[in-house]
Amino acid sequence: MALKTPVYMDHAATTPCDPRVVEAMLPFFTTTFGNPGSRNHSFGWDAEAGVDRARGQVASLLGADEKEIIFTSGATESNNLAIRGAAAMYEKKPAGQTGRGHIITSLIEHKAVLDPVKRLQKEGFDATFLEPGPDGLITADMVRHALRDDTILVSIMWANNEIGTINDIPPIGALCHEKGILFHTDATQWAGKMPVHVERDNVDLLSMSGHKIYGPKGVGALYVRRRKPRVRLTPLVDGGGQERGFRSGTLNVTGIVGLGKACEIAQAEMDHDAHRLLELRTRLEKGVTARLDSCQVNGHPTKRLPHIANISFGFVEGEGLMMAVKEIACSSGSACTSASLEPSYVLKALDLSDELAHSSLRLSLGKWTTAEQVDYAIEKIVAAVRKLREMSPLYDMHKEGIDLSKVEWGHH
Ligand SMILES: *Cc1c(COP(=O)(O)O)cnc(C)c1O
Repeated sequence: MALKTPVYMDHAATTPCDPRVVEAMLPFFTTTFGNPGSRNHSFGWDAEAGVDRARGQVASLLGADEKEIIFTSGATESNNLAIRGAAAMYEKKPAGQTGRGHIITSLIEHKAVLDPVKRLQKEGFDATFLEPGPDGLITADMVRHALRDDTILVSIMWANNEIGTINDIPPIGALCHEKGILFHTDATQWAGKMPVHVERDNVDLLSMSGHKIYGPKGVGALYVRRRKPRVRLTPLVDGGGQERGFRSGTLNVTGIVGLGKACEIAQAEMDHDAHRLLELRTRLEKGVTARLDSCQVNGHPTKRLPHIANISFGFVEGEGLMMAVKEIACSSGSACTSASLEPSYVLKALDLSDELAHSSLRLSLGKWTTAEQVDYAIEKIVAAVRKLREMSPLYDMHKEGIDLSKVEWGHH
């Protein structure tokens, strides 16, 4: 049977909704359509029962209590609520004055963490952006060295969305607890794919999203610890006082029900999926690197999510590479900013050159990725890179054994 193209290998960007999730959501659009805030009739109670059930499913996935789950519009909002909400609540000095408190995060966080922290800097908070090692990892030692007397919050992602590296979250959390500092983790790529237990893992605040785990888009959750310590946050949105005042607004009942179902499925199928994905990812990485010289898999060799492969190809031009593999829906090592094509800041933080960052592919596999699709991707990528290198004088020189770093280029 012919393979259907393009082949989807961008599951770190978003995943298809699991049909079982859609099925669970459907009644809440039409029959069980009530507002869970309506206390006086069964329409409200039935909708509330759906939300309660979902809250239990999310809490169970995280090893949390139901009361510790706040529903949001996604991980972006969860990150903003955790970071801005904690900064406003635990600041050292009132607004307008400098030195309001110190926040530690890393250079390779998602923009949904970096940008709120940068805004807080403009508002008078201090921030340290930790630089990862060449393997992409942020360690507890790095955090320890950055700690200050006025540090109020540490925010380190559990696993990176571009290179899949997994940070040592439990020791970082233990360090924060020892020092009495709040610890937030953006677990969008981790929760639902790998095991979480907020008690064991020493996490105070944890962000996650529905659409990265086969749930719907536009819904997510923030775990907020209720004891040891009881975390307080200043809300971003005021209004009807829903979600215990943390997040006002009528609940996205269908989305929440979908997120809950996605968490339930994730919990049941996580082990199986992770093993299968690791096999496929290894097949993909080996298949490509065994047949091509001058390419590298980015990130840590083993501390890496089973579904993300990020590979850089020397002696090919980034845009040409993307064009040549357009039957594979994947991401490149370039980020489109308004004006230009910037190399990925994550790959740059690993000390990759601009050229190598541009000629990188992020291939992220999912629940329904097949070995046949992986083999197809290997064929396409190998053929594309070989073809592009045929046109590269630099690759010729490299093949002839000329050390390109020692070549003196003419200046005209
Ligand atoms: C996708 C993603 C986000 C943003 O999540 P949304 O639910 O789309 O807002 C944040 N952090 C990481 C690591 C992600 O992968």
